[in-house]
Amino acid sequence: MAQSLEPAEMPRQFPKLNISEVDEQVRLLAEKVFAKVLREEDSKDALSLFTVPEDCPIGQKEAKERELEKELAEQKSVETAKRKKSFKMIRSQSLSLQMPPQQDWKGPPSSTPAMSPPKPVPAGAASQAAPASFAMPEFQRVTISGDYCAGITVEDYEQAAKSLAKALMIREKYSRLAYHRFPRTTAQYLCPQRAEKWGPGDEVFPDFHPPPEPHENPYCLDSMPPNLGYVLRMQGGILFVYDNEEMLKRNEPRSLPYPDLETYTVDLSHILALITDGPTKTYCHRRLNFLESKFSLHEMLNEMSEFKELKSNPHRDFYNVRKVDTHIHAAACMNQKHLLRFIKHTYQTEPDRIVTEKRGKKITLRQVFDGLHMDPYDLTVDSLDVHAEVARELEESKYQYTEPRLSIYGRSPLEWLNLARWFINHKVYSPNMRWIIQVPRIYDIFRSKKLLPSFGKMLENIFLPLFEATINPRDHEDLHLFLKYVTGFDSVDDESKHSDHMFSDKSPNPDIWTSEQNPPYSYYLYYMYANIMVLNNLRKERGMSTFLFRPHCGEAGSITHLVSAFLTADNISHGLLLKKSPVLQYLYYLAQIPIAMSPLSNNSLFLEYSKNPLREFLHKGLHVSLSTDDPMQFHYTKEALMEEYAIAAQVWKLSTCDLCEIARNSVLQSGLSHTEKQKFLGPNYYKEGPEGNDIRKTNVAQIRMAFRYETLCNELSFLSDAMKSEEITALFKNTQGKCCNRGRVIP
Ligand SMILES: [Zn+2]
Repeated sequence: MAQSLEPAEMPRQFPKLNISEVDEQVRLLAEKVFAKVLREEDSKDALSLFTVPEDCPIGQKEAKERELEKELAEQKSVETAKRKKSFKMIRSQSLSLQMPPQQDWKGPPSSTPAMSPPKPVPAGAASQAAPASFAMPEFQRVTISGDYCAGITVEDYEQAAKSLAKALMIREKYSRLAYHRFPRTTAQYLCPQRAEKWGPGDEVFPDFHPPPEPHENPYCLDSMPPNLGYVLRMQGGILFVYDNEEMLKRNEPRSLPYPDLETYTVDLSHILALITDGPTKTYCHRRLNFLESKFSLHEMLNEMSEFKELKSNPHRDFYNVRKVDTHIHAAACMNQKHLLRFIKHTYQTEPDRIVTEKRGKKITLRQVFDGLHMDPYDLTVDSLDVHAEVARELEESKYQYTEPRLSIYGRSPLEWLNLARWFINHKVYSPNMRWIIQVPRIYDIFRSKKLLPSFGKMLENIFLPLFEATINPRDHEDLHLFLKYVTGFDSVDDESKHSDHMFSDKSPNPDIWTSEQNPPYSYYLYYMYANIMVLNNLRKERGMSTFLFRPHCGEAGSITHLVSAFLTADNISHGLLLKKSPVLQYLYYLAQIPIAMSPLSNNSLFLEYSKNPLREFLHKGLHVSLSTDDPMQFHYTKEALMEEYAIAAQVWKLSTCDLCEIARNSVLQSGLSHTEKQKFLGPNYYKEGPEGNDIRKTNVAQIRMAFRYETLCNELSFLSDAMKSEEITALFKNTQGKCCNRGRVIP
């Protein structure tokens, strides 16, 4: 059984939306954004993602003048003056709550009900360890008093704040039903806006299988859960689960949630319209600039205090905090040194080992080297077992973990069984590795070679075996076992390759997608996500582990990829293009969506190291981790992850606290189990802010944690203040109305 935090009761249906109910304006805007992708435009038209290109002085001057005119016009309005005043009032209240007194610090101000944590299932020694004594640290805080948000009109602010809150609620819905994570703090601010009270029971957590104990056999096939005999059918690209043949005939599937294509399109169009909305762009741009400046001030004021905190933390430094390589491809997880050493070693010990096949003829390692004209890199990695070598080194280093991607292509339904058997026969398990399945977006290639009849068949090959192993594990023992060590799915390929098909609710369903054209990114993501959601809900019912969707996203190509991932992904790899959209970047910040960044890989492929946004993202408070992507291509030393950290630290002058913050993020982002996270980060790791941090394990200063937490609360409070404004304005009017009435009664 997978261990879990207390499961939340929740409605199991995905609320259905109709495209006809969507504001015509929103629908048209969304279509325009998608159409723009097709035409590959990058002009300065109304749809450009920044209001003004940052490198255009005239444009910036004009924009400033327009803003001034707007503000002057606004000042003349009595109504606006009133609202401005009410915002100031709300603001002064929220502000005083930003710095709660030490004794009764209870988390974000909007969560007046006591914040009781979910009860973790008692497991192992980790959870029995005494929690670190927790006190709000003293440090110099940067606060802005006075106006609600200078430089933007009241109306624009209200509009922006409301749309941003709506976007966050959409993501929350998509995350919860898929057993993806959504930050507690953000949820606590959103709840009152739906007139709901937040409770810890509202939270859902993914389930990852805890690693076997050292004395346990990781390949043990005992204690298989019983078969259930449910019946499966794939329809329109989604798998449906039926209790039995009878229910299948009556077409009554089990109630497992997923959003239909129309609902997904509706939600997607809201975010697409939002990223092109002028006032929202301006607002987000300003908030992001503020976040960056605020961090600089924080650093200037508190660098020494953070440093002192770390100095007085015994036995812990950057080298012995746990770090996870959150994005790495198994086929290239060894670096050149590993590979060379491995080949030499094998050549000495087993020269007659068959390592490759050419035109049906088996070739030994000795023959390979005899016929020197062959490139040794053509050797297949899997037959070489080089993973064992990499795993051994990781285990020796003790503090490093890795999440390598293995491929499933969806070409044949047997791929899963072969992969599971490879895993078991070659004893690939390592306590320092958790596996992720990557699905390359290359349907077009298989289709043109007539290997697949439709996109639907590809989806069936990918997902049907997983559902079968979940329903009848005793008939699929190898796969059931292998899935214990798989924690997520990735979607991979060159994002700059683009499809000629424009994604919409009218897109043909996968069963009738029989053309050789490759579906667009958003389409791939939707069908991966929808099936993972159904599968996760089924597995949760069975007490089995769940999967996270962690696609490559925003490395290149269209900005719309980041919109699709905003709904469907638990976390993403790369995220470089967030640089281009202030709205998305701000949303990724508010939702604390983890981003695995690989600046060395980017440096070779898409973006020069010095232009990489990692440092900027980290400073603003986005949830970033460092990862290697492809050590065989990009790294020189045998400790590729340390190389990645070391270069980032040198180039960007990152402090120890910065590095440890990134390392902590990487553990949080990863598919390591609840037990391991408690062991590596502290028993309360799932709480946010200093309360969730155990400096003795993470080496992240409590001052840093408090700064991040209070900063996020402050940004979120701007959104909730905008909601409160309506009530308060109404109140304003009423009280004034009453005065007038009384005036009439008593002449
Ligand atoms: Zn990659």
